[in-house]
Amino acid sequence: MSKQHLPNRIKPMIDPRKLAVQGVTLDGYIPSKSAERLRDAVLGYEDDQIKVTLQFGRDLEKHLTITGHAETSVSVQCQRCLQPMPYLLATNISLAVVRTEDAARELPSYLEPLIVTEEKVSTSHIVEEELLLAMPLVMYHPSADCQMDYKISQNIEDNENISALKTEKETEKDNPFSILEQLKGKLSE
Ligand SMILES: [Zn+2]
Repeated sequence: MSKQHLPNRIKPMIDPRKLAVQGVTLDGYIPSKSAERLRDAVLGYEDDQIKVTLQFGRDLEKHLTITGHAETSVSVQCQRCLQPMPYLLATNISLAVVRTEDAARELPSYLEPLIVTEEKVSTSHIVEEELLLAMPLVMYHPSADCQMDYKISQNIEDNENISALKTEKETEKDNPFSILEQLKGKLSE
């Protein structure tokens, strides 16, 4: 994980169609503070830059594509000990620029649509959307670094197992299909 500062700031607004025609690759950074929604999803930024590579072009089926990579270091909460932990948030980007929802639905599944109705689109919007999608739902320290006492965490896990069992039983009881299954079983006897 390098904290070295990149010199090239990527423009805040870009015209993806024009860049695709030119076959441009943008390599540089956007300021972390420009990604406000991502800021709200983490405890804080560990790096004031989000490193970004975006390559614009067309694939064989003439889709206008943006492929690349984005990464930055953030601080997140460990879900076991609730202490902050550093996390390298990184994602590969594979987008297709379209104008309408209909065009978005026609894309092959490996291309994620980026609907751009105007001429230009914000780079931080593209990048933070992709980083938000790459955020894991839960994050833990490696067990050696975690502050949580092992026994306490074992207890919590046991309790979780017990309540998981309970809910399983309760849903079985309330589930009309399980009654149907029982009836079916009786009929076939
Ligand atoms: Zn922890």
